[in-house]
Amino acid sequence: MPDYSLAPEGSHFIDGAYVEDPAGAEITVIFPATGEVIARLHSATAPIVDAAVESAQRAQWIWAEMAPVDRGRVLLRAAELIRARNDALSELETYDTGKPIQETLVADATSGADSLEFFGGLIAADTGQYIPLGGGDFAFTKREPLGVCLGIGAWNYPTQIACWKAAPALAGGNAMVFKPSETTPLCALKIAEIFVEAGAPKGLFNVVQGYGDVGGMLVGHPAIDKVSLTGSVPTGRKVAGAAAGALKHVTMELGGKSPLIVFEDADIESAIGAAMLGNFYSSGQICSNGTRVFVHEAVHDRFVARLKERTESIRIGDPRDPEVQYGPMVTEAQMQIALDYVAIGQSEGAILQTGGARVVPEDAADGFFVSPAVFTAVTDDMRIAREEIFGPVMSVLKFATEDEVVARANATEFGLAAGVFTQDITRAHRVIDALEAGTCWINTYNLTPVQMPFGGIKASGFGRENSAAALDHYTQLKSVYVASGPVESPY
Ligand code: NDP
Repeated sequence: MPDYSLAPEGSHFIDGAYVEDPAGAEITVIFPATGEVIARLHSATAPIVDAAVESAQRAQWIWAEMAPVDRGRVLLRAAELIRARNDALSELETYDTGKPIQETLVADATSGADSLEFFGGLIAADTGQYIPLGGGDFAFTKREPLGVCLGIGAWNYPTQIACWKAAPALAGGNAMVFKPSETTPLCALKIAEIFVEAGAPKGLFNVVQGYGDVGGMLVGHPAIDKVSLTGSVPTGRKVAGAAAGALKHVTMELGGKSPLIVFEDADIESAIGAAMLGNFYSSGQICSNGTRVFVHEAVHDRFVARLKERTESIRIGDPRDPEVQYGPMVTEAQMQIALDYVAIGQSEGAILQTGGARVVPEDAADGFFVSPAVFTAVTDDMRIAREEIFGPVMSVLKFATEDEVVARANATEFGLAAGVFTQDITRAHRVIDALEAGTCWINTYNLTPVQMPFGGIKASGFGRENSAAALDHYTQLKSVYVASGPVESPY
């Protein structure tokens, strides 16, 4: 088992090795359950950014020349190494993010490995088209890499985001420079080490640390051909705007305020379980969460009573304890945001059924914990029902008819995800068809297997991660016309 000591050998991982530049601003990494400083890194300076991009360019030329099946083999080997080190990687993810080890063992490195396996296996079969044109002429198409792709990650799923972006990008013959969120900079470095160990050319996956300004420098770098961001809508607007100026390819995985609709005929226990997972998993810090839970008036009171009971039984504490189900928020600032929204909800007249307070668990007294909050009597105009909180604050809204709930569910600028609970299969499909969201679930919530495309519409972004669809966003199509006769010309 590798020793994943918390402080890495250097802040950045470039050209197959750790690199440090103490001239960059300090990044302090804090374990959210105790408030302890676990590592000190440095934000990248301009020479570090240039070195990372240039090294990625060199690696990309070598990599793109390799047969797709050989590239795929490297990704499969990386996936194998990740699985073999899942315990250590999960522990590190828990330190980086504060998420319970119970979650990180099954949802982070393993999900990254799924992605590398999927794209590693797929790429050799991703062949072009043959198009007969008559008279012996034909055309064919091929998918070509874009070049050097930039991945910019949010802090909630640092390992998963790094792999979800790297797997289709590398499979498609690109190199990647990845900038983690400065809040959770540790995990991506381990993934970079693993790629080198798996046989990738040095520089194929470089990690550059930094604050938003470093992201900005990278987005503006002329040798970056594509930008894939996972982050908030305001950051998305800035990054997409900057990339558009240089006509760079863009994938935007942004925020949401997704609806989860529970009809009167739903399996109520399952719907409650899904609502809890879709609001409280990772302490509510998940982009696709169903934070607006619309419950039919006929089952509303029963739903709320049981939801409250089950929510109050969630075990909160030190995320390193395998029995703990719910950890701290990622930072003190994020904890304060969640607490502020609880106060806003109360001042707007919503009823706080449970939670929403700072918690001081015995085994993690200095952590940034907020108990899972459930609001009822929420109306569509309230800020807690309109704005992305990115914390454990669930809004329950009552509805009477299908048309009404669909209209209310769609009345948002976001369009990331949506879910429906009903036993009526016709209604399930009718409602899903009418919902404006890129990723939807019927009788479940927030499951994101790698085979299924994931992404949003409206202000939640564009482009897709996972599935064969993601490859289209990391490659460009070349068409070739092949003539078999002489050229007829009037000149
Ligand atoms: P932010 O938008 O604040 O940051 C995302 C990343 O962008 C960070 O690495 C950040 O760096 C960087 N960044 C900030 N400003 C710029 C800039 N001008 N140019 C380039 N890069 C920049 O998001 P959070 O990290 O706070 O994550 C939470 C958000 O992410 C939520 O809105 C959530 O919904 C969304 N998200 C979306 C997902 C999806 O797949 N749709 C999945 C997970 C989260 P730094 O942190 O150093 O500022």
